[in-house]
Amino acid sequence: MVSVALLAGCATSTVRNPVTGLKERTVMNESTELAEGKKAHDQVLSEYGAYPDPKVQAYVNELGQRLASQSERSQLEWHFTVLDSPEINAFALPGGYVYVTRGIMIYMESEADLAGVIGHEIGHVTARHGSQRATRQQTAGIGVVAATLLGAVLEGAGVGGAGQLASQVSQSVAAGYIASYGREQELQADQLGAEYLSRSHYDPRNMVDVIQVLKNQERFADDTARAEGRNPPPHNNWLASHPSNDKRLEDITRIAESYQGQYSDESRSRYLQAINGITFGESREQGLTRGQNFYHEGLGIALTAPVGWKIQNGKDAITLVNSDGTAGLVVKLVPAKAGGSHEEIVRKLLKPASGRAEPLALNGLSATHFVGNRSNDPGQPQPFEVTIVSGPGDQNYFLGYAAKDGQTMQRARRQIKEAEGSFRALTTADRAAARPWVVKTVPYPRGGFPVLARQSPLSSASEQQLRLINGVYAGGEPKPGQLVKVVE
Ligand SMILES: [Zn+2]
Repeated sequence: MVSVALLAGCATSTVRNPVTGLKERTVMNESTELAEGKKAHDQVLSEYGAYPDPKVQAYVNELGQRLASQSERSQLEWHFTVLDSPEINAFALPGGYVYVTRGIMIYMESEADLAGVIGHEIGHVTARHGSQRATRQQTAGIGVVAATLLGAVLEGAGVGGAGQLASQVSQSVAAGYIASYGREQELQADQLGAEYLSRSHYDPRNMVDVIQVLKNQERFADDTARAEGRNPPPHNNWLASHPSNDKRLEDITRIAESYQGQYSDESRSRYLQAINGITFGESREQGLTRGQNFYHEGLGIALTAPVGWKIQNGKDAITLVNSDGTAGLVVKLVPAKAGGSHEEIVRKLLKPASGRAEPLALNGLSATHFVGNRSNDPGQPQPFEVTIVSGPGDQNYFLGYAAKDGQTMQRARRQIKEAEGSFRALTTADRAAARPWVVKTVPYPRGGFPVLARQSPLSSASEQQLRLINGVYAGGEPKPGQLVKVVE
């Protein structure tokens, strides 16, 4: 959870914009920008976590530093971080902090593609877009520089938990909050990005490719949802925060075409080598969903959802939900300070007015089931049903029964019990199944994607998904022997 102290009473001063050379009034001079950026950076890291692979981090940092050294603010101390998130995103904070998710990296086909994304984000920093927004808000009476930093984070409104961020921001800053950059700023970031690419010997036309690849990703998500009879999902990715209508595509194409030069094209093989082995989808640290099972190696626990139920692996809870989403079991880690005994935990967390407790065992783990009432704010008795279980490693877990009303609870109780009864310490078989998927590069076989799809652990539409991560979703075919990405 991100909480940001409000920057009280910051005065306005004047700075010269590094890109335009024009003077602008600001609440964030360079030293404020650096200090606020650093603070927000620490929060981003604690919220999302850096991807724990020093080789990948070093690769992205080297590329970022090279691009930033060609920018108007080459003297800044730049930081480039790969976040451990499967979401498809990238964003920047004032002061020189740029982030890409491991998720977006999988969809990039070459170093030049990734350079396109990073160059654009560098552009937001060099042109002081975050700081300008802080100033506009201050002037508009919203007055929270720190919230603006969250706004910069929100450009990545898709990184896990950003929904919570958004609601928090809207609570603290209220109406009038500008969630993403303005169109002019986006255009300027595109222009700056193209310039940095060209100066670093990457073809700016790769920025067009990036937009196409991400557009196809959205199309794939829509097509898959339709095929499964679901509504198309909301698009919470880099593209969504960068409205890529035809106008933007046209603009970028025009910008790119204004550059002419000799560009090296070794960037594809170098890139594929760099991302070989990168995690695809959920990670060990976040816990893995495989079919009806959920495994968390770090915590040493596993759960199995009843047939037809879904598993939602959230940041603060794992929720097993029934098919129509009206009832489920919410599993949370109990903080140590909530108490030692199961009774004490329930007293502190739920403050029950009345209730009874019954000991039980879940797969050899000692547990206590509580049924009772608690009074909510208007003093109404509110029924609750929860099991506290002592899991591996001296950790207690809260297993809360949830339903939209009493009748639904009655109908769902048997399956909630079934879900609860699956709570267990990881078995040897669980451990073997709890292996994250990774991206590997292999020579394209004669049989093509159908052959690769048959060997893939991806369950649905794996052939299309492989086409997608290889940039040929809309058509085209790699040459036999050419390196392609697969998921293992
Ligand atoms: Zn942008």
